[in-house]
Amino acid sequence: MSVPTEFKLNNGMTIPAVGLGTWKAQPGEVRNAVAHALKAGYRHIDCAVMYGNQNEVAQGIEDSGVKREDIFITSKLWSTYHDRVEEDLDKTLKQLNTSYLDLYLIHWPVRLVPDDKGTPIPLKEDGSRATDWDWDQSKTWAQMEDMLAKGKVKAIGVSNCGIPILEHLKKSWKTVPAVNQVEIHPYNPSHELKEWCDKEGIILEAYSPLGSTGSPLGKDEQVAKIAEKHNVAPATVLISYCVNKGIVVLPKSVTPARIESNLQVIKLSDDELAVFDKLAAQGKQMRINSPSWMCDFGFSDWYGPGNKDAP
Ligand code: NDP
Repeated sequence: MSVPTEFKLNNGMTIPAVGLGTWKAQPGEVRNAVAHALKAGYRHIDCAVMYGNQNEVAQGIEDSGVKREDIFITSKLWSTYHDRVEEDLDKTLKQLNTSYLDLYLIHWPVRLVPDDKGTPIPLKEDGSRATDWDWDQSKTWAQMEDMLAKGKVKAIGVSNCGIPILEHLKKSWKTVPAVNQVEIHPYNPSHELKEWCDKEGIILEAYSPLGSTGSPLGKDEQVAKIAEKHNVAPATVLISYCVNKGIVVLPKSVTPARIESNLQVIKLSDDELAVFDKLAAQGKQMRINSPSWMCDFGFSDWYGPGNKDAP
């Protein structure tokens, strides 16, 4: 049996199973990476206004010659705009040079209080992050639903949401989020969250599926063993792990050969998937994106090394 190349969202849309990540793709690199990816067959690009490179992503799309309507474009609302969703969305649409997004996500389920200078991560006077813990995320979600109704986006979803926040949103949502984009790889498989989202019809999207830059995952003994068995790169096994589990995967690369090989997805056996599923429970649990300025968003594994907010 072959592996899927796309999944169905809860609104009937299809989403390509593999999308190109663009975080930390530097100016001067990301334009070529996007153009190369689209020419190589990608039809899904994951963006965010916070990445500061959406203008270049748009140039890459134009260079590729691939039609806008043939590309699934995702972007994300930044945290200083939770009370001004449309304003941030309009900025993104302009940067990406498009009249609509295929998918718009709340990047983080926390509001940051903006300062006068428009600093992306504003600080309070005492140097701590200007987080607004009193902000009700349902108010952000209601605005996301408005954007859907206006036709500026075709689907809406969330990112970095654990079960408690999803339970809270569920009390008032009229539209069930189409996706929840979270960190997923064999060291952070998020089994419980996957089960919850499956029940609600929410597709998970895996960010940092390779473990991000400098990842230990590529050198993991089990990953290497299974990669060798299939005669593929460790990255291919990590990408395939997600797709075989019904999870959209967003590997980032600006390297042409890697961009191409990351599109390859192989069938993994149930036994092979089980090996990866168990690694975290065997002492390898590791979250790469555990920013100290964030908080416990309902992930039991949230507090990583160096997280100054850890209890
Ligand atoms: P990834 O896990 O995709 O890893 C990217 C790193 O792996 C880069 O250093 C890249 O190098 C390298 N790499 C790519 N392909 C290969 C390969 N075949 N072999 C070896 N190394 C490889 O990390 P990201 O953290 O970037 O996550 C992916 C995407 O997910 C992001 O770009 C972003 O779009 C999204 N994301 C979303 C977040 C959210 O809060 N919603 C948070 C984090 C990420 P090089 O580019 O030099 O080839």
